[in-house]
Amino acid sequence: MAPVVVVGAGPTGLTAAALLARHGVDCLVLERRTRPHPQPRAVHLDDEAYAILASVGVDLGAISRPGQGLRLLDAGMRVLAEFRRDAAAGRHGYPEANMFDQPDLERILRRKVTVLDGAEVTEIIQHGDHVRVNGERADYVLGCDGANSFVRNAIGARMRDLGFAQRWLVVDIDTDADLGQWEGVHQVCDTRRAATYMRVGKSRYRWEFRLRDGETAADYQDLSRLRPLIAPWARVEDLELRRVAEYTFRAQIADKWRHDRVFLLGDAAHLTPPFIGQGLGAGLRDAANLAWKLAAVRDGELPASVLDTYQAERLPHVRTMIRLAKLLGAAMTEGGEFGNLLRRVVMPRLHLVPGLKNRVLSSETPALRRSELVRRPRFRRSLAGSLCPGLMPDRMTVVTAETHPELADWLRHGHARAALIRPDGVVLEATPSGPPR
Ligand SMILES: Cc1cc2nc3c(=O)[nH]c(=O)nc-3n(C[C@H](O)[C@H](O)[C@H](O)COP(=O)(O)OP(=O)(O)OC[C@H]3O[C@@H](n4cnc5c(N)ncnc54)[C@H](O)[C@@H]3O)c2cc1C
Repeated sequence: MAPVVVVGAGPTGLTAAALLARHGVDCLVLERRTRPHPQPRAVHLDDEAYAILASVGVDLGAISRPGQGLRLLDAGMRVLAEFRRDAAAGRHGYPEANMFDQPDLERILRRKVTVLDGAEVTEIIQHGDHVRVNGERADYVLGCDGANSFVRNAIGARMRDLGFAQRWLVVDIDTDADLGQWEGVHQVCDTRRAATYMRVGKSRYRWEFRLRDGETAADYQDLSRLRPLIAPWARVEDLELRRVAEYTFRAQIADKWRHDRVFLLGDAAHLTPPFIGQGLGAGLRDAANLAWKLAAVRDGELPASVLDTYQAERLPHVRTMIRLAKLLGAAMTEGGEFGNLLRRVVMPRLHLVPGLKNRVLSSETPALRRSELVRRPRFRRSLAGSLCPGLMPDRMTVVTAETHPELADWLRHGHARAALIRPDGVVLEATPSGPPR
């Protein structure tokens, strides 16, 4: 078997395998399904995730449309607030919001790696210097096997619940008809029936409706039964139903992400409600964080102790993003009639809050915390832990205004003379700019 075995050919596992190959590590992806997952799930990725995919030669732009922003509506479809995206590209050089279809992405990623389909992993045994996966030897195992992860159980990790569970109906539609709708995300902020609508592709659309107690997806299996839900946006006669499914959106994080030579990534390690479209993005960030470290440890360039920085860096980041998703979900949909009233009063005035539009639309996620590979001073602001715009080098790279003139403004704003950039684009350390000479 290959030195690294990836369990699960979802987007996290495929990306991890492609990144490992980029860093010169052979790996094999084992997938229990006999053919790729056909159903749409994720529909949004930000520009940080776009950059990770670009680093393995995947052009997300070829299969996506730039997102136009967010519109908040009340139950009567009156616009409460609107946040439009103007810029074509963000600081990494890609659109900050990208609408796409998950099976399209998985199809492209699969061409980059070796996948063994129909190979369910049922046994993982750790030995001192190797792991046995279904009896075969590997140096490391990456558990990218989704929410019901076998690997998670095998290493004795448990999901910790962050107190969120909502049942939603997810409706995917194909149509060539012009629905004549504004092309950003529509969020209906209504306690009785929260809903989300968005255009995903040229002829692909997604609706999500919060299910009421006693309702199930079985109540909405055809377009005639979906009519009252979809009517505010479209005539069902123009639509072709691709699928209807019920999902319980949860917020959970595994209590440990590593046991010796076995790691958890993606949905196997964390679950988030999709309100800010960050579940899959988090899996891609896990893959980018771990792949170069594993390669450097295998090559003897870094000590094995740096592998502990994977959970230390990624878990707090994931927790922050999950809290943000929960907060946004609650702000848009909770609070009963009083919540609806409050939203009607507050949301139309949001444009008066200075800087709020930029904050709502910003795709920049928080900097990583201090670790052996993020040298952040305690009492001074620093670029360390943040992402360098538009750069994911093959090797650790020092950037200065002289070597990278396009980064001169970024360094100046970060009060840095130079920055050491890791292969995942994270700033390991920044040298403060001295007093003016
Ligand atoms: C309705 C909905 C909307 C969403 N919207 C967004 C969004 O807009 N943006 C976003 O970023 N995320 C979104 N997500 C989340 C996103 O879809 C998931 O986070 C993502 O699919 C997780 O990828 P993964 O590779 O970690 O896991 P998965 O996609 O679950 O893949 C795991 C793979 O492992 C395989 N496997 C399992 N067990 C074994 C085994 N024992 N042996 C071998 N193989 C195994 C499975 O068959 C599967 O192929 C959404 C999710 C849902 C449900």
